[in-house]
Amino acid sequence: MISVEGLRKVYRQGGGRTAREVVALDDVTLTVPKGEIFGILGRSGAGKSTLIRCLNLLERPTAGRVVVGGQDLTALDATALRQQRRRIGMVFQHFHLLQSRTVADNVAVPLEILGQDRAQRRRRVAELLDLVGLADRADAYPGQLSGGQKQRVGIARALAAEPDVLLSDEATSALDGETTAAILDLLRDVNARLGVTILMITHEMPVVKAICGSAALLEGGRLVEHGRLADLAADP
Ligand code: ADP
Ligand code: ADP
Repeated sequence: MISVEGLRKVYRQGGGRTAREVVALDDVTLTVPKGEIFGILGRSGAGKSTLIRCLNLLERPTAGRVVVGGQDLTALDATALRQQRRRIGMVFQHFHLLQSRTVADNVAVPLEILGQDRAQRRRRVAELLDLVGLADRADAYPGQLSGGQKQRVGIARALAAEPDVLLSDEATSALDGETTAAILDLLRDVNARLGVTILMITHEMPVVKAICGSAALLEGGRLVEHGRLADLAADP
């Protein structure tokens, strides 16, 4: 479903004679099978954000390929890329909700971009709010919600355009333990019911242990471990 081949990203920091190159990703190769919940674990500075930006091609890799559902994203022009980007739904640590729009209207954003009419959006939004357990909060504003509820809205919005892949960027890192567990349950449920592949990027090992079948460890821009969770966990 997602395959990353020889991905490399080099940033230039500073200018003139003090300029230096930072290798944020170094020959990262990784395959995530369809329907899998896959974890990418790494501490601050390991290259996680760079990997996310390369996966949704907000950032051009210096070298390497990103293949989603058989399509090499690095080979596409800007228009084709916008189309393909819909195949990846993003869930963020700080939710990124529009404060001036209701829950329903936040979830409807991707549907508006797709050009769906009001009736279609209404139906789809109701379905999505049902899925995430927020049917009774459609008309609330984000400021009236708990952190866990905000993340449910974020997940509903990420799923709106029926992506093949859900890319979760520290989705539970701003939540307390109990809320984290509930959100992980929801993601597990979404994965089982919709078959959507989930890529969990996190610095929290317990999150990976709770939900991921396989995982990889990113360190200094390199993937240092990659395998079934049972095998990784056996490693001290
Ligand atoms: P993480 O998300 O795991 O904390 P990042 O991907 O943000 O890691 O950063 C990886 C490395 O790349 C770090 O050394 C960081 O300083 C560097 N880096 C990230 N983004 C940029 C950028 N836009 N320009 C220059 N260096 C960057
Ligand atoms: P408008 O805001 O354009 O006057 P509506 O209020 O009918 O039209 O819908 C606005 C958007 O929010 C649409 O995308 C609609 O699908 C969605 N929406 C609004 N309220 C709800 C709700 N209670 N349940 C489901 N979807 C809703």
